[in-house]
Amino acid sequence: MTGNKVLEKLLRMKGFRITWFAIYERKKEISVGVKPHKTGCRCPLCNRRGKIVPVVQNTREWRDVIMCGMKVTFYYPPKEIICATHGRIQEVIPWADAYARVTYRFEYLMLMFAQMMTQKAATQLLHMAKSTFSDLLHRAIQRLRAGHRIRDLKSIGIDEISYCKGKKYATVVYDLDRHCVVWIGRGKGRETIDEFFLKKLSKQQRTRIQRASCDMSETYIGAIEDHCPNAVLVLDHFHITKALGAAMDEVRKEEWRLADKSGKEALKGMRWLLFMHSSNRTKRDTRLINQLKKSNRRIHRAWVLKDEFAQFWEYVNPKSAENFLRAWMTAAMKSRIQPIKDFVATLRKHLPYVLAYTGTRISNAVAEGLNRVIKIVKNRASGFQSLDAFSDLIYLVVGDVDIPEQIPSRFRTL
Ligand SMILES: [Zn+2]
Repeated sequence: MTGNKVLEKLLRMKGFRITWFAIYERKKEISVGVKPHKTGCRCPLCNRRGKIVPVVQNTREWRDVIMCGMKVTFYYPPKEIICATHGRIQEVIPWADAYARVTYRFEYLMLMFAQMMTQKAATQLLHMAKSTFSDLLHRAIQRLRAGHRIRDLKSIGIDEISYCKGKKYATVVYDLDRHCVVWIGRGKGRETIDEFFLKKLSKQQRTRIQRASCDMSETYIGAIEDHCPNAVLVLDHFHITKALGAAMDEVRKEEWRLADKSGKEALKGMRWLLFMHSSNRTKRDTRLINQLKKSNRRIHRAWVLKDEFAQFWEYVNPKSAENFLRAWMTAAMKSRIQPIKDFVATLRKHLPYVLAYTGTRISNAVAEGLNRVIKIVKNRASGFQSLDAFSDLIYLVVGDVDIPEQIPSRFRTL
């Protein structure tokens, strides 16, 4: 077997050939001259042989995967051909996309690594600079998602998300049935979410949406009311709980500011205890909270209200759920604690959408699936400076398209 053949086997180059190669030990590089087919050049659209246009073409380079610690680069000047059907066109390059600077195999590895590990680890394994990595990743993801249309969307969730260390916002739209992200847009205003409904969905698709879920923001509620005439809107369980928790924490902070030294001492370390779900509490925790009842009535009152509210999610019968919630709201208003009263005002305003939970049950499983996705998204997002880099990873990890699967199957090797 000749050297070329051995290398062809090692690089699994079925369908294309090696014309020459050179190994540079010091630079840890292998340069490989490649050729798409044994004979002739083929059209990328119909795969028929075409007549070569007699002009000198520039040699292009493609990065391939690392082999035994050596960087592998392919070299070839792609020809222009005249196809009987498609006219003048660049010949097909079997190992890479028409304009890519890396091979399909490299792209596949890059996508898999980006899913599995930090960017830093991925760039080390692939022997490349971080900026090159994110640039290549962005191009690959853009291309592999291009032309993708949203299909069969029946249950949607809309949420805002911050990136660039909490300084900027984006809107994320989820498919609640499939537990994935279908769209990400810059900003969190009405124009952002309108862009999704008007540009990404047809009128028919909008009328087919049956369930929708979002937080208590007027923007998203208004958009769902306007664009999804047949959807039952349910305010997200997780977001409501979070808003109530924030109200309670507001009370704790106020009290902390007003407290004297011994009062501060008593409040120390209470934060996590106050947020804890009742089922996780130990006897000692309960004792601590009972002490609070004597030392700080206001926080204790807020905490009791928060704890009682959690029962609302357990109700199965809509009428009982409504009775419970109304009674709870009356009690909460009587507490005369401003942050809690503000929370009640928001609840009242959107009451039908809060009560809808019991009847429709955008079920817990779905809500939890959604929250799991949100968590992944948020963990990934915080460090990102640009929306592009952020949405690339979201689409890659929890998007509605399996991006690595879009690479031709024979190049999907890890
Ligand atoms: Zn053709």
